[in-house]
Amino acid sequence: MDFRVLLFSFLLIAIIIPGIFSESIIRIPPEKDLFCDRKSETDDRLYCESWRFSIETNDAGAWQRIPARAGDGKDAWVFDIDETLLSNLPYYEVHGFGSEPFDEKSFDDWVNLAEAPALPASLSLYEELSQLGFKIFLLTGRSEYQRDATERNLLFAGYRNWEKLILRGPSDQGTPATVYKSEKRANLVNEGYRIQGSSGDQWSDLWGFAIATRSFKLPNPMYYIA
Ligand SMILES: [Mg+2]
Repeated sequence: MDFRVLLFSFLLIAIIIPGIFSESIIRIPPEKDLFCDRKSETDDRLYCESWRFSIETNDAGAWQRIPARAGDGKDAWVFDIDETLLSNLPYYEVHGFGSEPFDEKSFDDWVNLAEAPALPASLSLYEELSQLGFKIFLLTGRSEYQRDATERNLLFAGYRNWEKLILRGPSDQGTPATVYKSEKRANLVNEGYRIQGSSGDQWSDLWGFAIATRSFKLPNPMYYIA
């Protein structure tokens, strides 16, 4: 046999055979393996932790959905609103980017317009958490009389399906932000929610008591709320 034909045949076999016998190292579990029969609370917690770890490390593989047991409806995330979900940059652009003294009247007028855009990264996180089954609570320093405008603005910006919007009621007026927000988080904990995460642009959104398992501080170079 011609040497070149022999060499070509050898190379062809060398290429084809490994392809026939090799297997992908990526294994997609059969559907039935997505669920299991463990009943104990400890097992459930480990099972769910495993899922969360996989999601956070972007290692959830080809699974298309979360196992039904990866949540009992009590995992919660708390979002602040101003400069966390909604950006008031259009307002501050014409008010010195926070360098002017805060003017409640003109800010209220801006709030009533309900046109603040979403912070894109926050909207993305919000939607992902919502899809994962987290109950989303919106905890803001805005007052009850601003509920309607706030809801309209959240919908305008693309937010949907929050569990509860918590605003300052009459008895909350004058309470320091850290205390007010801690008290509201504590109410959620007393209702059985596990506050897994909290996002806010002020430290007073995150500190105090009934603190989330993980807290995420967004930057806000324009103003500070103690
Ligand atoms: Mg804020």
